[in-house]
Amino acid sequence: MKTAWSGLIGIDLGTTYSCVAHLSRDGVPATIPNREGDLITPSCILFDESGSLVVGAEAKRMECILPDRTVVCVKRDMGETYYSKLIAGEQYRPEVLSALILKRLRADAETRLGHVDCAVITVPAYFDDTRRKATQDAARLAGLPVLDLLNEPTAAALAYAYEERLRRTGGIAKLAQELDSRPLTALVYDLGGGTFDVSVVRMTGSKFETLATDGDVRLGGRDWDQALVDYASEQFLRQYETDPRLDPESLAALFLAAEQAKHSLSVRATTRLAITHEGRRLPLEISRELFEQLTLPLLTRTEMTTELVLEAAEIDWSQIDRVLLVGGMTRTPQVRSMLKRISGLEPDASLAADEVVAHGAVIHGALLLARGVTVPPNHPLGPWVKLEVIDVNSHALGIAIRGDDDIYRNSILIPRNTPLPVSVSKTFQTRSYGQKQVRVRVLEGEAYTVDACVQIGEFIITDLPPGLPEGSPIEVECRYGRDGRISVLGRDLTSGAEAATQIERSRVIPDEELAREGERLKAVDVN
Ligand code: AMP
Repeated sequence: MKTAWSGLIGIDLGTTYSCVAHLSRDGVPATIPNREGDLITPSCILFDESGSLVVGAEAKRMECILPDRTVVCVKRDMGETYYSKLIAGEQYRPEVLSALILKRLRADAETRLGHVDCAVITVPAYFDDTRRKATQDAARLAGLPVLDLLNEPTAAALAYAYEERLRRTGGIAKLAQELDSRPLTALVYDLGGGTFDVSVVRMTGSKFETLATDGDVRLGGRDWDQALVDYASEQFLRQYETDPRLDPESLAALFLAAEQAKHSLSVRATTRLAITHEGRRLPLEISRELFEQLTLPLLTRTEMTTELVLEAAEIDWSQIDRVLLVGGMTRTPQVRSMLKRISGLEPDASLAADEVVAHGAVIHGALLLARGVTVPPNHPLGPWVKLEVIDVNSHALGIAIRGDDDIYRNSILIPRNTPLPVSVSKTFQTRSYGQKQVRVRVLEGEAYTVDACVQIGEFIITDLPPGLPEGSPIEVECRYGRDGRISVLGRDLTSGAEAATQIERSRVIPDEELAREGERLKAVDVN
């Protein structure tokens, strides 16, 4: 028998690895193995010389052999117009590359599940509107309907709460009662391959609420690998007076070796790494101590952000019940001991760090789909269906306002860490008689100066009635949706009529191109 969520998958679309999960009829989340039988799929694409497209482990392996035909870390470029390097001499949009990864993930899931109808895709809490839109556009290009976007730390916390009760009590019915008597506050530390997120989440019987979130979309395991690559290259340079980083093939091989060495150092005190370049070879011994020294500035950045997020949530460590570990990088002893030192708690790694986000995504999606149907009271989802998941915005939303000195400044309408959804209105005056339209620049960021913020785009209120006197009031309503996406609405207060509004976004893929590319990608096979 089918359930409301049988065609649903949860996707953790990671910078370095991706993971897909589904929820069984009995309400148990499980990772879907890919066609190679692995639980995670490298988020790498190879544009093969024969014209075929390969996603996953084979593409990752080929990075050293065909670096100019291999795409890695595309998530870091989401929200930019083009992927940061040319692939086989061509420029690609990050949305298109990300769509190819999604196509492969979906195809793998379909071989196990049958048809996939829709997905919940997770994004770093710290992703801004442009990056969120780019993720939705990637799914559209892949022909995959998105039920919702969910913040990665929220997904992780949801999975921890759900799965722990499922294991501990053999059912979830007691959870609401237990949480009602004593809310649980957790810090979610999520360090993946390319991004870092940290959030404070409070769980009660009926609410799952993010109190504050912070992070860095350009900090992750890849930077730890880079530190090792730089150290090894400098040793090589000293010995042979040539730098392996200058050759794309040597560099890609070194990145792979550095990542493997990093993994080894999570379980042993020393490891070896060999650098090969221009026919020469240099073996190096790397100790955990040296690795931790090389990467200490990166770890410190995460520590500072973690302390800041507590401040933003207006709580201290004594109020945190749990530290939840998410992301492959939390397997390093360095991360665990730092968190133990600052929190005084033993971090909780009871769920697989690289699967927990996908599990949370599918649980969230199933809860949304189960709202419209009857779920038996003894089913694990039953007591959770009414659970409210409340996220916050990770960036302030403002508009550019011209001051008396003619300089534009960021006027914040919605401060960061405001519970979502939220909408705020502001009234503007027209500047001249008979003005036909009003243009407003929308900004994301806390800074006072416009240049230090990210300009999402301009919204234009058009078709104002003829003959409006100078100084006529125009109301603008800005809204953050539950998924962190922004929309705006304009109102001409003189007539009371809603004004036509359009957002001209910078850096996103235009609608016509999206439709054209979507058609083209339908015919593209991903292996
Ligand atoms: P994720 O995005 O959660 O899949 O995390 C991927 C990152 O975690 C990559 O940088 C991996 O190299 C890193 N990672 C995975 N497993 C380990 C491990 N055992 N020790 C250290 N880092 C790891």
